[in-house]
Amino acid sequence: MYPRATVNEALRLHAQGWTDHAVAQACNVSVQSVRNWRTGRRRRSTKNESETYCPRCSGASLDHRAYSYLLGLYLGDGYIGYVGERAKKVWALQISCANDWPGLVQECTNALHTVLPNHRVIVVNRTGCKDVKAYWKHWLCIFPQHGARRKHERQISLAEWQIAIVENHPREFVRGLIHSDGCRTTNRVRRMVDGEWKYYEYPRYFFSNASRDILGLLVVMLDLLGIEWKFRWKRGREGHQVQGIVSIAKKPSVALLDSFVGPKY
Ligand SMILES: [Zn+2]
Repeated sequence: MYPRATVNEALRLHAQGWTDHAVAQACNVSVQSVRNWRTGRRRRSTKNESETYCPRCSGASLDHRAYSYLLGLYLGDGYIGYVGERAKKVWALQISCANDWPGLVQECTNALHTVLPNHRVIVVNRTGCKDVKAYWKHWLCIFPQHGARRKHERQISLAEWQIAIVENHPREFVRGLIHSDGCRTTNRVRRMVDGEWKYYEYPRYFFSNASRDILGLLVVMLDLLGIEWKFRWKRGREGHQVQGIVSIAKKPSVALLDSFVGPKY
């Protein structure tokens, strides 16, 4: 009889789409044992566990801080899609990160590892950006916002359990959103003071997104954190897609955002 932890680890890897052989090798057990646990032979409860193993289906632990950040990234620049045959129901979550910010690629990778421990995270090079990807059968359980159309063309609302996590960790959520679809810029202004040129810097934050719902989630969290913001609609570069822009320019609010977001890196 193997320890419960070994069985759980095997089921976790299986839930992530690993083959029985790969699971057996990783857990140092026989292929037959993996098969038995997976199909529920020998242990009564394992069949159910193997099919539902995830923070939502079977009460596996979820790191709320990392999840709140990842949810922000997902709503900004994330995408979930089927991998391979539909029957197998393996999903890929991918988050696009610009090449300009290698630190953010690393932070995104770390967040994925924390939300999904013992899991492979793949970084795919594309022109100008990297896709950080992970495969799992249960992505839709923790990101039920997935849908057929683009995010701004459908309703995006959080489940009650997600709202509870985000309200407990609003900084991580706002950080995720700004890291994906936001930026921190600095306006430099030159002024003549007592016959001398003086330079002043005005840092500010912007967040732009086409989804009314995602913009709404951001400003509700900014309100919760006591951060002042302004909002306007703007035509996108192509001229047809309208983007909502949230800007934060008041000094105390920028300072507050600097304490947990800061410039991209
Ligand atoms: Zn699940």
